[in-house]
Amino acid sequence: MNNVNMIQCDNLTYKYVNSEDKLEKYAINGVNLEVKKGEFLVILGHNGSGKSTMAKHMNALLLPSGGKVYVDGIDSSDLSKTWEIRSRAGMVFQNPDNQIVATIVEEDVAFGPENLGVPPEEIRNRVDESLKKVGMYEYRRHAPHLLSGGQKQRVAIAGILAMRPKCIILDEPTAMLDPSGRKEVIRTIKDVNKEYGITIILITHYMEEAVEADRIVVMDEGKVKLEGTPKEVFSNVSLMKKIGLDVPQVTELAYELRNCGINIKNDILTINEMVDELCRLK
Ligand code: ADP
Ligand code: MG
Repeated sequence: MNNVNMIQCDNLTYKYVNSEDKLEKYAINGVNLEVKKGEFLVILGHNGSGKSTMAKHMNALLLPSGGKVYVDGIDSSDLSKTWEIRSRAGMVFQNPDNQIVATIVEEDVAFGPENLGVPPEEIRNRVDESLKKVGMYEYRRHAPHLLSGGQKQRVAIAGILAMRPKCIILDEPTAMLDPSGRKEVIRTIKDVNKEYGITIILITHYMEEAVEADRIVVMDEGKVKLEGTPKEVFSNVSLMKKIGLDVPQVTELAYELRNCGINIKNDILTINEMVDELCRLK
């Protein structure tokens, strides 16, 4: 086990057993993956490719059928360490309403550290600090159900931060949000990564969110199909399409222009890069 890794999966497999016919189905099939401390990793893949199953292994919500998962060096199958793992690697889910447990924002954020047995005065500090980090401090006495989706997800992130994690895993946290809610949540996730050095593993369907990552992993049929920087991954336009995934719109435009014989770079991710390339052509 290498101690620069926040998460390490060694030949991970996971099978679900159908409760009726007892048939086994591999949701994860031999995945090797290392996530470095401080990294911002995005996982892409179409529905059913095994992303959520993978995510749940990263904080011991699921344990491997085969292979190993280490979270900050701790073997996830060591049952005496499950709470230790969950305090180091927190998880945010898709539906903000399913994650709220209290009727006041600050009580909701206090729930995690309370469960960890943190002393009350320390909880007070952590709640205030976490709500400030996600820009929700002024809403601390509000009722969560009156907040917008983006605000609820930021409260959910604050609840994780209050446990002082080293890593946060977010499983499609923006899927139910409108564009402005999506933007505020992504900005919060990036701040938490860049300013506080917390490792981020973000599962998303939005390619513009993936462009922001240090590295992207593409899953297909329970396996890692493609891996690299956003430029490396998105330059594989035809393979991405074959897997059933999109690439950013400007990347696709560059790809189509190349197909028409125009000599343009194949790893364009932003509008500015596209403008520079087009101006170079004339
Ligand atoms: P994704 O998050 O990429 O959509 P999942 O990890 O949810 O993929 O699912 C991977 C595969 O495992 C799918 O084929 C799915 O049908 C199956 N699966 C997921 N959860 C269960 C479950 N609780 N019981 C049986 N099969 C499941
Ligand atoms: Mg999923």
